Amino acid sequence: MIPYGRQSIDEDDIAAVVDVLRSDWLTTGPKVVEFERAFADFVGVQEAVAVSSGTAALHAAMFALGIGRGDEVIVPPMTFAATANCVVFLGGIPVFADVDPETLLLNPAKVEEKITSRTKAIIAVDYTGHPCDYDSLQSIVKRYKLALVADACHSLGAKYKNRKVGSLADLNIFSFHPVKHITTGEGGMVTTNDPDLAASMRLFRNHGINTDHQQRHEKGSWFYEIADLGYNYRLSDFQCVLGLSQLKKLPQFLIRRQEIAKYYNDALLNINDITPLTVKENILHAYHLYVIRFNFDKIRKTRKDIFRAFREKGIGVNVHYVPVHFHPYYKNKFLTKSGLCPVAETSYEHILSLPIHPKLTDYEANYVIDNLEQIIN
Ligand SMILES: *Cc1c(COP(=O)(O)O)cnc(C)c1O
Repeated sequence: MIPYGRQSIDEDDIAAVVDVLRSDWLTTGPKVVEFERAFADFVGVQEAVAVSSGTAALHAAMFALGIGRGDEVIVPPMTFAATANCVVFLGGIPVFADVDPETLLLNPAKVEEKITSRTKAIIAVDYTGHPCDYDSLQSIVKRYKLALVADACHSLGAKYKNRKVGSLADLNIFSFHPVKHITTGEGGMVTTNDPDLAASMRLFRNHGINTDHQQRHEKGSWFYEIADLGYNYRLSDFQCVLGLSQLKKLPQFLIRRQEIAKYYNDALLNINDITPLTVKENILHAYHLYVIRFNFDKIRKTRKDIFRAFREKGIGVNVHYVPVHFHPYYKNKFLTKSGLCPVAETSYEHILSLPIHPKLTDYEANYVIDNLEQIIN
């Protein structure tokens, strides 16, 4: 089966991990600090805070912003559920705003319609690896005095008007799950230029303790205090060294993803009634996903048929995503209904993600397109 996404691990990644396994520090050691520094430098911000997953990163961000009971946070429905779940973790209410029909990115006009006196923040999701319209979102958060969070789990390495993702919002969230651009097995990062928010997230990832193991080690002190309620969301040293090793290869990974996307784009020019999502001007796309849309008025097949036919050919197509407000948990707890975000809901019925990852070969990409042509004809 050709997966829609997968990790690219080489012998040097493995050797780096083995070295750390033989060292004194398996966790809270020097590789954590090194990975955070390298990551912050890569995206061009002052601070990066490593945590155990993208979901933990979102949770830490909501904590640092002080999201609490009854606070509203505006999110898109076209995302992985963790984007909205993190608001609920702290007693907040995720408010769904619809997406733009061309890009399926959060629509700033729809965001503005959803703002109330209880709105505290917006989480923008760079769906598929295309950065959101940050100029418009920044102008909204300034006007209403809100915080802006970028869920950049799809867009590591992308650029918006020549500015790097990771530096575009108050807090920027990344995941190192194996299907993402770089992996640490499980892992996540939050980047920011705000040292207070960074300090708050460092406390949150470590049980709410206001000194870390290393600081105590250096001071030779046994005393510690729980300053707030935190979790164990730490990322271990052997994961961080894998992250460091992977980060060095990120530029190559991005080039390969862009090559595959170009190959698919060119091929789709010759296939009727199937189109890629629109890419706006002044965008460097990171292509975590390659999403196509079917015109089912013209194609006399259902998506279910097409999905099944691909799978039978060993091609691991997928659907990203079931709109979050369609999940039973949201329907039961927040009484969300279909009709809430019509653009996302209709788009969901028409999309499919084709395989894209750095180790996908030209032969495999060609096999995907050949089968796409055969399946719809
Ligand atoms: C992957 C992902 C997450 C969650 O990251 P994990 O590391 O799996 O917890 C959150 N949001 C989006 C948009 C994602 O793609």
